[in-house]
Amino acid sequence: MIISGKQVITRLKEEMGNILKRTKSIPHISILLNKEDKSSISYTKSISKVARENGFRITLYKVDSNTPEEELKEILFTLSKDEDVDGIVVTKPYPSRMKKEFINLIPKWKDIDGQTDTNIAALYKKEEGLFPATPLAVMEFFKEVHYILEGKHAVIIGRSTTVGLPLYHLLLREDATCTICHSKTSDLKRFTNQADVVITAAGIPGLITEDMVKNATFLIDVAINVVNGKIVGDMAIDFERKDYYHKDLVFVTPVPGGVGPVTSFMLLMNTLRGMQERGKILVEA
Ligand code: NAD
Repeated sequence: MIISGKQVITRLKEEMGNILKRTKSIPHISILLNKEDKSSISYTKSISKVARENGFRITLYKVDSNTPEEELKEILFTLSKDEDVDGIVVTKPYPSRMKKEFINLIPKWKDIDGQTDTNIAALYKKEEGLFPATPLAVMEFFKEVHYILEGKHAVIIGRSTTVGLPLYHLLLREDATCTICHSKTSDLKRFTNQADVVITAAGIPGLITEDMVKNATFLIDVAINVVNGKIVGDMAIDFERKDYYHKDLVFVTPVPGGVGPVTSFMLLMNTLRGMQERGKILVEA
């Protein structure tokens, strides 16, 4: 069964509507975007679009490798103190003069992409916090179909700090047994064929083929690759094929239209969560 991002977003929109009823303020996200980087520009565009469609306010700060350190620090310091700002995102790759200590100026409950050391530590220590949007989006696909992760073996392909590593911790919280594979893993198939859940975020089209996921019951493709002008994931499996061998038993996500759109939406959900913690949204009676 294919689970689309649209299906997940429909449920999240309902949750969002219920939360928004309990606030008088319009949620406000500030984005520092690296205007020299294409992926930073396209991430900003998709966040801005989904935010505006859902009644959030967006303010953009365009920076690049020429922006002085002092200016980067000043922007983040001002935004962190501004009560009117509810969420702050610094898109990756960071401009060359950005320092981790500047990112760490973002207060815990405004750090809506889980970038600060405070939220990273909270994730690792099983404490409350705001965590990176892409791994949170992945977790929503399991929730969507009430998939029980406890006792399952999840194999994650990719160990980046934006996807693989935080996802490992979120899956552990649900009592899955986790393995992380990466570019130095030898014989990837040996691991994927033992998995109940395979999540790939390597950015290599065709990396995962049908013979590598024989026992899996949940396949999630996080990758966004462009091949001949078309967007594809890492999985080269035709899920639409009529005779896909156990398709009724298996949950899969498409690319495009799977994890990608849910990622931007999770930034909105994180903003609302942060506003709740900062007392800007009434707690449900
Ligand atoms: P990255 O380059 O930082 O990490 C890629 C990871 O894949 C690395 O840990 C590397 O060790 C691993 N890898 C590379 N080759 C491999 C191989 N042959 N076998 C096993 N592992 C291998 O990239 P990233 O930022 O984590 O992004 C990964 C992919 O996910 C990209 O396609 C990116 O576009 C996509 N992405 C999607 C979203 C979304 O919202 N859907 C968000 C972030 C990234």
